[in-house]
Amino acid sequence: MKISGLQKLTLLDYPGKVACTVFTPGCNLRCPFCHNASLVFSCAGEIDEETIFSFLKKRTGVLDGMCVTGGEPLLQKDIADFLSKVKALGYLVKLDTNGTFPDRLQPLLEEKLVDYVAMDIKASPDNYDNATGVVTDLEKVRRSVELLKESGVPHEFRTTTVKGIHTAQDFETIAQWLAGEEQFFIQQYKVADDMIGDAFESFSKEELEAFAAIVAKTVKTVAVRGV
Ligand code: SF4
Repeated sequence: MKISGLQKLTLLDYPGKVACTVFTPGCNLRCPFCHNASLVFSCAGEIDEETIFSFLKKRTGVLDGMCVTGGEPLLQKDIADFLSKVKALGYLVKLDTNGTFPDRLQPLLEEKLVDYVAMDIKASPDNYDNATGVVTDLEKVRRSVELLKESGVPHEFRTTTVKGIHTAQDFETIAQWLAGEEQFFIQQYKVADDMIGDAFESFSKEELEAFAAIVAKTVKTVAVRGV
């Protein structure tokens, strides 16, 4: 699998776990607010798998798990193979995905190669392409949501929320889409150096909390992150 980076320790990325994070190159979307532009436009892996496995062997008993993020990790055709080797070393795996590769997500869920999945809901269906910067196959996104709902694998949905792209109407629709789900997070957008598009404005904490209250009508746990 192509690997662009390794963060050796994170206490934030995997809920309740001490983990490392592996970054994969490339993404099929072009969210204008993305702050990982260099990773999105990259197709090169700079770290070989053996380096990662040797690192994991040395961290046994220190780390609980590994986060796999991107870019979009499910672009990697051999991700199942990579994750099965990580699991064989006794690590938990958290996967971040934009939800556009249900055919790759399904076997990972069925074969229990992931222990936690964080999936982006970029916007309400009517507003999806504005948020992703490309024409997005929504049926694939919907299928990924359904796969996660049926999987029994702990998961969360999350929306990075950006002034100029999202409105309260997005969250009214997302509330209906995700009704009955366990967890949804509204993530604060922040201007960064490595962005795909021009800088947007951020919503205030109060505005984000008002959006959260809309989704909390149908989803059990809703919170705002990054404020
Ligand atoms: S924010 Fe969008 S463009 Fe950036 S990595 Fe995630 S899905 Fe890809």
